[in-house]
Amino acid sequence: MRLQVKEVSFAYGSIPALENVTFKVRGGEVLGIVGPNGSGKSTLLKCLARVLRPQMGTIFLDGKNLASLHGREIGRCLGYVPPPGTGNPFPCTVLEAVLHGRRPHLSWGVSQRDLAVVSSALTLLGLTDLAERQLEELSSGQRQKVLIARALAQEPEVFLLDEPTATLDIRYQLEVLGFIKEFAVNKERVVVMVLHDLNLASRFADRLILLYEGRIFAAGSPKAVLSPENIRATYGVEAVVSETQWGLQVIPVAPVDVGAEEEPQLYRVGMLG
Ligand code: ADP
Ligand code: MG
Repeated sequence: MRLQVKEVSFAYGSIPALENVTFKVRGGEVLGIVGPNGSGKSTLLKCLARVLRPQMGTIFLDGKNLASLHGREIGRCLGYVPPPGTGNPFPCTVLEAVLHGRRPHLSWGVSQRDLAVVSSALTLLGLTDLAERQLEELSSGQRQKVLIARALAQEPEVFLLDEPTATLDIRYQLEVLGFIKEFAVNKERVVVMVLHDLNLASRFADRLILLYEGRIFAAGSPKAVLSPENIRATYGVEAVVSETQWGLQVIPVAPVDVGAEEEPQLYRVGMLG
């Protein structure tokens, strides 16, 4: 499996959100998307999930145009977990929600294999005891785990996750990202995930894309992408970055005015003018 994004641009009406975005991800690889608020991360993931249709550019799955897929094919290819707090939970139990993930695979009702996959997804996310509970009764972190379990049960070729760990405690952050990485490697699936936590991003993603104002500002290894210079230029934050055996440790120190060095000069020009 191979995901190829070619010169994709997307605008909400007249507001551009993505401009000329190009990259590739192969099966077995975890790609992390980072970038400040409003830089286009969720929009990019929605384009990949076919929730949005880019006005320009093409997305290919194994050479096949994503726009040409239909019905169950999409469900088998793409598993999308929206960011926490999106939409209202529908009235169903945890078990029903996760079983729903099997829908693209069902032919004549639910098979033993379907039940086994659902049960293992529930176990992985520590949801077995909550299986009969209503979704709307759960905490946002528990609900997030259900959405992840549902997407895992779907066994998609391409797994798309928007801030999957934002509402999880530190133990589940590590566990969930661990399963996702294992899923990518063992089953040769493509994983693209948006992560706010730069430390987790550097630890669990093989490669990162740093978005800034809808464009790719930097792409490559976590170490190359998360340099203090890049963090400063995109997030406007002075950061200390050090290497540890568990990935990079990024400490945001203080907000800075990007271009503060140039500004006094402009100011002087203005004064003279
Ligand atoms: P991120 O996920 O990186 O925070 P988004 O992809 O959500 O960023 O948003 C990118 C840009 O598109 C922002 O400027 C945002 O305000 C705008 N945007 C997002 N969703 C909509 C929408 N439904 N309608 C109009 N503009 C939107
Ligand atoms: Mg977002």
